[in-house]
Amino acid sequence: MKITREQYDKYLFPCYVPQQMVLTKGKGVYLFDNENNKYLDLSAGIAVNALGHANAHVIKAIVKQSNKFLHLSNVFTNDKTIKLAKKLCKISHFQKVFFVNSGTEANECALKLARKYCIDKYNENKFEIVSFENSFHGRTFLSVCVGGKDSYSSGFGPKVQGIRHAKFNDLKSVEQNVNDNTAAIVLEMIQGEGGVIEASEEFLNKITELSIKHKALIIVDEVQTGVGRTGKSIYTYLQHKGFKPDIVTTAKGLAGGIPIGAILTTDEIAKVFTPGTHGSTFGGNPFACAVALDCLKIIAKDDFLQKVSSKGEYFKELLSKLNDKYQIFSQIRGQGLLIGAQLNEKYKDKASDFMALCTKEHLLVLTAGKNVIRFTPALTIKYKQLDKAYKILDEVIYKFIEQN
Ligand SMILES: *Cc1c(COP(=O)(O)O)cnc(C)c1O
Repeated sequence: MKITREQYDKYLFPCYVPQQMVLTKGKGVYLFDNENNKYLDLSAGIAVNALGHANAHVIKAIVKQSNKFLHLSNVFTNDKTIKLAKKLCKISHFQKVFFVNSGTEANECALKLARKYCIDKYNENKFEIVSFENSFHGRTFLSVCVGGKDSYSSGFGPKVQGIRHAKFNDLKSVEQNVNDNTAAIVLEMIQGEGGVIEASEEFLNKITELSIKHKALIIVDEVQTGVGRTGKSIYTYLQHKGFKPDIVTTAKGLAGGIPIGAILTTDEIAKVFTPGTHGSTFGGNPFACAVALDCLKIIAKDDFLQKVSSKGEYFKELLSKLNDKYQIFSQIRGQGLLIGAQLNEKYKDKASDFMALCTKEHLLVLTAGKNVIRFTPALTIKYKQLDKAYKILDEVIYKFIEQN
């Protein structure tokens, strides 16, 4: 019997409303559905499939480790987990790693760690978390309460206490919310789900200043921005001199599509997670770690990262060219291959209509909120594929304007 999109609604939770086709396979930046349609994918599983679909290196890593063992539990250790931890420490300039299976879990762990560290070291009142409006940190109850979107944490009964939301990139607002009871300030270097909005240099400086003054930790959520996504360096915070987070979380692209997450921190902070304090069955499994190691072998190279930057700049230029022709965007922004194009006032709240029209023309894009079109293609995308996307977007925008 044929699998249809209607069956999705019949059998799956109504949490998502996926696009109308049923995909069956992919290769590189292309995806295919069960009616033999071919799509150019600029979403890469929401910044996850860093090396594209069915990448030969990723397949090889998967097969190789599958022939040894997939999972052991944390009762026993293995070569791959230790190797990946060493590699991440070297890349990030931290000393300790804890492995989990997703971005949410990484943030959950980071937040618990910050609270425990501050309560142990200072006093029982130092547990407050300061985060930012429109931020996204995942879907466990703590991470939705910390995240800056009220609708994600409402309707589940009492919220977690001690969380304050300041305005992003607003020096005064963050200053008003941080105090001596703050355990940590948590932020994204570029708010991804919130609309591809970069933290400004002054904002980062202010956070550094407040963290010193109030002995608060800085947690940087690099779940979306990390692993080369923004080009130049593996993690975005490394591009900012003088900005030193205490804890960094990473996930999404780390193992090229295999679930994994990690928390990076210092010896001093990691020390409070003594045996039994925290744990994970699958976290640090040799399978995900082996695949991540082989992905990093490709991504953690200066020339690879440089290309991500150049291709990002190139695609932003193409978008600007389209905007010169159609005046549809009020801003085109982002770094590397995390790019957002904000629809102007005239097309307010129409981002998902735009996305659906792209899908119809066999171009897969994302939205970030109701007004931003987001592009997070595989980091391996080629210039000529970006040119192809430009041509399709030209048609899409023409039709979009006609319909609106
Ligand atoms: C995607 C994302 C998360 C959540 O990651 P999951 O793997 O879905 O749990 C957290 N923070 C940021 C910034 C993200 O983009």
